[in-house]
Order: sequence, then structure tokens, then C-alpha cells
Amino acid sequence: MSGPITVVGAGLAGSLAAIFLAQRGYTVTVLERRPDLRKVDISAGRSINLALANRGIDALRRVGLMPQIEPLLTPMRGRMLHTPAGELGFQPYGRTPTEMIYSVSRGSLNAALMDAAEATGRVEIRFGTPCDGHDFDVDDGTPVIAADGAGSAIRAAMHAQRGITVSEELLEHGYKELTMPAGAGGAHAMDCNALHIWPRGGYMLIALPNLDGSFTVTLFLPVDGQDSFAALSGPAEVDAFFREHFADAHTLIPGLAEQFATNPTGRMVTVRSEPWHIGGQALLVGDAAHAIVPFHGQGMNAAFEDCVALDACIAEHGNDWEQVFADFEALRKPNSDAIATMALENYVEMRDLVAQPRFQLQKKLEFLLQERHPDRFIPRYAMVMFHSMPYAEAYTRGRVQKEILDALTQRVERIEDIDLDRADQLVVSRVPAPRSSSDTHSAHRPHGTRG
Ligand SMILES: Cc1cc2nc3c(=O)[nH]c(=O)nc-3n(C[C@H](O)[C@H](O)[C@H](O)COP(=O)(O)OP(=O)(O)OC[C@H]3O[C@@H](n4cnc5c(N)ncnc54)[C@H](O)[C@@H]3O)c2cc1C
Repeated sequence: MSGPITVVGAGLAGSLAAIFLAQRGYTVTVLERRPDLRKVDISAGRSINLALANRGIDALRRVGLMPQIEPLLTPMRGRMLHTPAGELGFQPYGRTPTEMIYSVSRGSLNAALMDAAEATGRVEIRFGTPCDGHDFDVDDGTPVIAADGAGSAIRAAMHAQRGITVSEELLEHGYKELTMPAGAGGAHAMDCNALHIWPRGGYMLIALPNLDGSFTVTLFLPVDGQDSFAALSGPAEVDAFFREHFADAHTLIPGLAEQFATNPTGRMVTVRSEPWHIGGQALLVGDAAHAIVPFHGQGMNAAFEDCVALDACIAEHGNDWEQVFADFEALRKPNSDAIATMALENYVEMRDLVAQPRFQLQKKLEFLLQERHPDRFIPRYAMVMFHSMPYAEAYTRGRVQKEILDALTQRVERIEDIDLDRADQLVVSRVPAPRSSSDTHSAHRPHGTRG
């Protein structure tokens, strides 16, 4: 297969898509609006680090990139909950030590992807080159892969010229990133192998570790209202809010109020669009097609999974781009809808439910049922983060499993009091066995990572 292809956006999806395309023999021109992040620091304000999980790792492994990426990863084995009184409680993500996720710097990962794309000898990235749309009445035969993110210019052109349906649902909560520097001797100031959460009901603080001993701390908070960004109008309010609700974090973030004033407040959006392609001319991938809120840590992972799916469609249909794009959309659309819903649900779980005894009992019960029925009962979090079954299937199975958990934990407070005979009967009668062994694809553990 050969021929020229244009990719718009050299972010996470665009750079990885370019590598896949180059490995199939295509010549790829990538148009990137921003300057080269390997030469200019442009990280401010964009989520500085990200959680990488099984689906993303699988995609990186397919293009042979994991040896370069592994040194950039910090394993996170579970959630470390911080109560208002400063007590800590650890909730493991998985049942086995291989079931964990990894914190990675967005900039380092993007740079490694750009390096690898250019190293193929078939990819040219044109930095400082914004694409301001596309004229679909003029078809020069070069397919365009639009990986230009949540605010996609190509998606806007598809909407304006061909009337595709686009909905952009803005979350009423915003986010702000802060830095918790390394502690004494450059060590992390908190456990570096956990994703830290301060769940406070209507809002939350989280922290992900960085390789240099720092943490990137993110406050998720309503934009308006009583406890909100609007209410934190000056340094005194910010200081008092953190002192009251996140006292242990407050002591570990020097210059908190200054950082708060300087760093931008970001907004989060769920983008749903349909169709994702105009004939064989252009296709939306990654956030351009389906941006989601970040609470399942899956936006990048889903975008990387898109690249794998696109590659598989090209393997099947070659240069029949209309067929490639149509198949890609049929494969991915139900799954991106499912992860969009699960990501919204996970915000409530993270900021509120994790702190509740009933949730904690259900987590224990999930692991117990998984132990008793390993081929059948897989906690939803694990299906999304550690397996490769389609998101839509994880969503459907997760709903059935949740009903079982609810039924078994009614009027029960201790795991010892669960009726296990009833539990076994419910699982066997209601949860289908996975369709194939690849659906239960177990977590990939990179070797040589820290911690
Ligand atoms: C606060 C926050 C936390 C997150 N945490 C996680 C996480 O833990 N795990 C996870 O998997 N995902 C996470 N995500 C989601 C993740 O960031 C996105 O899903 C991912 O970046 C999507 O990659 P993309 O390449 O599609 O888009 P982007 O990364 O946005 O890249 C788009 C690229 O296109 C360029 N571009 C834009 N417009 C144009 C134009 N007109 N012309 C040329 N170039 C253009 C941009 O400069 C950029 O380089 C998070 C998101 C946020 C906001």
C-alpha cells in the first residue's frame, strides 16, 4: 500500500496514526498548528500527565514503541484516598499485581511519538501550520485523517459543508492543575505508586506522580455556585478552601495561591458526532471524533485504540478509503459512545462514591466474585483499564454486574455476611461468559519501570 496521506494534528492520536500509516508504506504529511514541543515549552495549562492503561499500551506495543515509553512510566497500583482529617486509605485497582495503570508525561509521550514518526523516514511534521478547515467540493485524492482534537477544525468544516451532526456537551465543572514539588532529597512527598484522591462529594482533588519527584495535582470543581471556581476569587479564599478541605495537600504545595492565580482553569467537553467521515475524503479520529471527560483516564487510550482499529481496516480494504472509513466508524462509534458514558459516571464514583462504605464493600465483593468466577465476573473498572474487550461490551456487562452487587449488598455491611450461594447462582445465571479468550486479554506489564 502506498500513496500520500494528510494527518491534521501531531498530538497523541495524530502522531501515532502517522506511525501506523508509515509502517504500512504510506507517505504522511502531518500539519500541526503549534510549534515543535521538543524545542519549545508549550505544556502550560494542558493536562501535564496522563494515565496510560492496557489499551494504550497495546497500541504502542504494536508499533514497537514500548521500549522507548517504558522508562517514562510510573506505575500506579490503586487509589490512595485522603479523608478530610488527613487519614489515608488504599484501594487497589486490580486483584493481581499486574493490574495497574501508569502515569506518563503528556509532553514526553508526545515527543517520543513524534521522534518515532519521523524516524520511519516517511513522515514529515509541519509545525506552526494550522489547518483552517477543508473544502469537500475539491477532492485531490489525498485522504485526510483529522486528529486535531476536541475543537477540530475539520469536524467544523464537515458540519458546515455536509451537515454532520455534532453535539458538544460542556461539563459544569472545570479543572485547574497545580504542582506539588518533590520533597526532601528529590523524593516524592506522598506514595508515588498511587493515584491520590481527595473525594469531597461535589468536587475533588487528585494527584498523579511525575518522574522528577513532583506530583501534578488537579482540582475538579463546579465553575459557578457555592463551592466553585467563581467563589475562589482571591488568594485568601483559595488558601482557606484548601486549608479546610485538603489540609494535607495544602502543606505540600508551596505558593499555592500564586499557582492558582497563574494557571488557567480548563473546561471539559463530551463531543459526539456522526458520521465521522465524508466519503473517502476525510475521517475524524481521537478527540476530534469523540472527546470525553477525563474521569476514566481513557481519552488517550481510546484515541490509541482508534489507531489500531484504523490500521486493521486499512489491512482489510487497502486504499478503498470510503470503505476503510465506514468500517472504522462502524467498529468504533458504539464503543466511543460507551466510554463517554462510563467516563461521566466515573466522575461521581471518584468524587463521591469511593468514600462511602457501601462502595467499598462492593469493591471487595467484586474481587471475591472475580476470584470465584474468573472467566465470567470482571469488575467494570478492570474491563475498561486492564482488558481489551470492546467498551460497549464492558458497559453492558458492567450494568448486569452492578445489579448483582446491589442485590447482594442490600442490608449487608460486612463481606463475611454475603450470601455466597446466591452470589454464585446470580453470576452464573446472569453474566455471560466472555466471547473469546482475546476479550479477557490480561493486563500488560511493561518491564523495567520504576517502583
Ligand atoms: C485534564 C485532562 C486529563 C486527562 N487525563 C487523561 C488520562 O489520564 N488518560 C487518558 O487516556 N486521557 C486523558 N485525557 C484525554 C486526552 O488528553 C485526550 O483524549 C487526548 O489528548 C486525545 O488525543 P488527540 O490526539 O485526539 O487530541 P489532542 O491531544 O488534543 O491533539 C490535537 C493536536 O492537534 C493540533 N491541532 C488542533 N487544531 C489544529 C488545526 N486546526 N490545525 C493543525 N493542528 C491542530 C493540536 O495542537 C494538537 O497537537 C485527559 C484530558 C484532560 C483535559
